[in-house]
Amino acid sequence: MPAPLRPTLPRAAAVLAAALTVLGCRDKGPAGIALVGATVIDGTGGPPLRNAVVVVRGTRIEAVASRDGFRMPKHTEQVDVSGRWIIPGLIDAHAHVARWALPRYIGWGVTAVRDLHNQLDTALALRRGAALNSFESPRIYAAGAMIDGVPTTYPDALPAPDAGAARKDVDRLAVAGVDYVKVYTRITPTLLRAIAEEAKSFNLRIAAHLGLTDALTAASIGVASIEHLSGVPEAAVDDPGPFYAAHQRGFFAGWTWFERSWAGLDSSRLARVAAGLARQHVVMVPTLVLHETFSRLDDSLIYRDPALAAVPDSEQARWNTPDMIRRANWTAADFDAFRKGRPIQDLFIRLFRAAGGIVVTGTDASNQMLVPGYSEHEELRLLVQAGLTTNAAIIAATRDAARLIGADSLGVVAPGRVADLLVLRADPLADITNTRAIDRVMLRGNLMKADSIRRSW
Ligand SMILES: [Zn+2]
Repeated sequence: MPAPLRPTLPRAAAVLAAALTVLGCRDKGPAGIALVGATVIDGTGGPPLRNAVVVVRGTRIEAVASRDGFRMPKHTEQVDVSGRWIIPGLIDAHAHVARWALPRYIGWGVTAVRDLHNQLDTALALRRGAALNSFESPRIYAAGAMIDGVPTTYPDALPAPDAGAARKDVDRLAVAGVDYVKVYTRITPTLLRAIAEEAKSFNLRIAAHLGLTDALTAASIGVASIEHLSGVPEAAVDDPGPFYAAHQRGFFAGWTWFERSWAGLDSSRLARVAAGLARQHVVMVPTLVLHETFSRLDDSLIYRDPALAAVPDSEQARWNTPDMIRRANWTAADFDAFRKGRPIQDLFIRLFRAAGGIVVTGTDASNQMLVPGYSEHEELRLLVQAGLTTNAAIIAATRDAARLIGADSLGVVAPGRVADLLVLRADPLADITNTRAIDRVMLRGNLMKADSIRRSW
């Protein structure tokens, strides 16, 4: 009688042991990584946390604490990062991504990008590939193709000849699954109202590169962000008519008129525009690096920037910067005027921030001479030059950029947030150019050496 039972006992024990192992595994979850000993600058502007521990498990941050008295959780590999600084991964809030550019962003610590126009299918395919980890890429958020008046400036924009067509464009983008809508320089206030109303019904925000609408009007219609400080001079002059005539003539004619105007703008009027925009809570993505770079296209020095080594020859050939200068008809006098306008753009940034306005980093890479990833650090430097503290510049590149995208799990080093962060070899609060001293990049909890990423191009 007892004989048949005997063999079943060890089997039951084995089953029980196996069950316990499974439960045990579930209990401990994925193995964690603890970054130990760095100073954490969390992206919220609070005081830095020295000698900290940041525990990451899976793709999320589990704990951020002082090392003193911290009890290390089990199943956590410790990585010594003492003498280093940790900041959230950087966000480029004005990008035009391309496959070649994606590893450059990561290598330079940009862990998320806000794409603001691409061929629609390309943008969505790249976004999907990035989300599925099909290739090395920062997180991609995408407007798909922008909406423009007719004739559209670029052939792959969606044309809006009238308000009805503009609404259909928004519907098409919403069905395609874009993250927000981008409007371009030939959008009039009438078209913008139709687009805004339709976008609101899909809960889509609007990013605007303005041409035929001034910034205050666009803000009152409800755009979420204004790109390149566009529409600001138009709002600050008595008669914006000549600006609109220039924007109607063509993209470069409009850009040249707009960019040349800054040097002559009145500061008290700019202050009024800044206050009006801040009141409407519209975010500025000034892309100072674009203004700065394009104001120096006649300076041979910028063509020898070592950062250009990251751009493939084929891409530099496609840029064909001399041809762009010819097409734009830019002369020495234009570049001179552009450079004279730069301090006034910086003044506007200060006025806007003093009025409570939010500024966010964006670069316009990979347009001509704007290196994906690297340009983000130039933008940070230029924002500090314009008057932001180093801490404010970091917030502009992290928490506030994440909020603009509507992805609040990004941009802050805190428990529960996604594990996108940078380990720096030098203190970015002491000198903003220290954001370039990247030791390691963590993206979705995956810790990588910056050097090894950069060796891949
Ligand atoms: Zn752009």
